[in-house]
Amino acid sequence: MTQRPLDINQPDSEKVIIVEGAREHNLKNVDLVIPRNSLVVFTGLSGSGKSSLAFDTLFAEGQRRYLETFSAYARQFVGDMKRPDVDKVKGLSPVIAIEQKTVSRNPRSTVGTVTEVYDFLRLLFARAGEAYSHITGEKMVRYSEDQIYEKISTTYENQKIVLTAPVIKSRKGHYRELFEQIKKRGYNKVVVDKEMLDITTGMMLDRYKIHDIDIVIDRLEVKPESPKRLQDSLTTALKVGEGYVTVIDESGDLHPFSKFLMDPISGLSYQEPQPNSFSFNSPYGACENCEGIGIKSEVNLDYIIPDRSKSINKGGIIPLGEYRDNWTFQQLRVIAKKLGFSLADPINKLTEDQLNAVLYGDDDAIDIVMKGDKWGGHKYETYFKGVINIVSDSYFETDDDRMREWAEEFVHEIACPVCNGDRLKKESLHFKIDNKSISDLARMNISDLAGWLKDVELRLTNRQKIIATELLKEIRNRISFLSGVGLGVLIAPFTSKNIKWR
Ligand SMILES: [Zn+2]
Repeated sequence: MTQRPLDINQPDSEKVIIVEGAREHNLKNVDLVIPRNSLVVFTGLSGSGKSSLAFDTLFAEGQRRYLETFSAYARQFVGDMKRPDVDKVKGLSPVIAIEQKTVSRNPRSTVGTVTEVYDFLRLLFARAGEAYSHITGEKMVRYSEDQIYEKISTTYENQKIVLTAPVIKSRKGHYRELFEQIKKRGYNKVVVDKEMLDITTGMMLDRYKIHDIDIVIDRLEVKPESPKRLQDSLTTALKVGEGYVTVIDESGDLHPFSKFLMDPISGLSYQEPQPNSFSFNSPYGACENCEGIGIKSEVNLDYIIPDRSKSINKGGIIPLGEYRDNWTFQQLRVIAKKLGFSLADPINKLTEDQLNAVLYGDDDAIDIVMKGDKWGGHKYETYFKGVINIVSDSYFETDDDRMREWAEEFVHEIACPVCNGDRLKKESLHFKIDNKSISDLARMNISDLAGWLKDVELRLTNRQKIIATELLKEIRNRISFLSGVGLGVLIAPFTSKNIKWR
C-alpha cells in the first residue's frame, strides 16, 4: 500500500488523522497521516491491508470511542467493542462506514444496521409496542386470569355457558391418540371444528384436513352468588389450554379469551414480541414471502415483448431474437400450428390463449421431428414450457452465470407484494408506538425521525413511558450523532426501499 510521507512531529489534528503502529491483520506496524476533509483513496494489491486500515482500524476505533460515550445501560445491548491493534489514532471524528461489498452482495445490510439505531428501535417495540390485530385492526388485549373471570361473570351473568380449552389450532392430523388421552384425563366431550362431539372409542378425524380441537372443561350457569364453580373451571381451562380459554354462549357463538396478546373479536393471537420479532434477519421477524429482503424479482413482460406489432419471426420476443432454426423455434412452430396462428403474425393479432401458450407453455406433449444426418427423422416428444418460464428458470434456477446474465435483462425487481417492501411479518408490522410501526419509523429520514422522537413521550401511555424512557434517550443520542455527521438528509437508511441494489 502507498504511504504518504509521515510528519508526526507536526501534528495538526484539525487537518489530519494520525495513525501510529497499526497492526490489524496483515498491517505491518504502519504509521501514516491522512488529510481530513478530503477524499482519500487507499489503493494497493489485494491483501495489502486496505480494508484492515479503513474498516478494522479507523472505523473500528471510531465506533469504539463513540460507544464508550454511552451509558452502561445502552452498552449492554451492543456489547463491548474490541480495541483495534494500533498504538495511537489522533484526530479521528465520528465515523460512518458503508462497506461497498456489503451493499452490493447482501441486500440485508443498510446504513441503519451499521449505526445500530434499528437495534434500539427493535428493543423499544418489543418492550413498549402495542399490538393491533392484522385481521380486524382491533387493539390486542392480554388479560390476567382475574380479568377473564370478571369479563365472563359480568357478560354471561345467569346464562348457561360452555368453557373449552383449545388444544389444537389449525393443524392437520387424525388425532386418534389425542382423543384417547383426553378421555383418559376424564373429559368426555370435545369441540371439533366448532361442533361439539362425544369422544367415542377409536375416534379420529380426516388426517389431511386442518382442524381445531377444544376440550370441553365444563358446562355451567354463571351465577355471581356462587363464583367458585366458574373460578375453578376457568383455572383448569387456562391450565389445559396453556393460557387460552373459549366461552361458548347460549346461541353457540365462540368467544376466545387469552392471557396472551389476542384480538378480542377474531380470536387471533400473537406471540409475545421479542427484539427478534422486528428483525428482518431473523425467521421470527422476516416476511416469509421475500425472506426479509423486501424485494422480489420477477420476469417483466414489457421487457420481453416491448413492441406487439412485431411478429415472433421478426424478433418480437426479445429473448428469442429473430427466427432461427433452433429448438425453441421448432417447438413454437408446432405450438403455432396446433393453436392455429403463424409465427409471422404480429403478436397483437394473437388471441389471449395463443399468447398465453407462447408465454407460459402448453400442457400437451408435442412431437418435434429432428433434422440432420445423425438424428434426421427421429421424433422427440417434448413439452413447451413457455418463454416466461424459460427466462425465469434461466434466472432463478441456474448456476450458470452467463445464462443468468442473459436472463437478468428481462427481470425487474418489485417491492414484495406481501410486506410492501417493509421486510417484516404482518404481525410485527402491527405493533405500534404513537400509531407508528417500526417500519414507519425506519422509513423516515433522520430529521423527521428526530422530530418524532423529540416529544414522543407526550403521546405515550404511562406504562409505555416508564418502559421507554431510557431507550428513547439512547435512540435520540444516536440520531443526533447521525445528524451531526451530516446524515440528516440521507433518506431511509434502514430499509432497502430507496436503495437500488444493482
Ligand atoms: Zn416481504
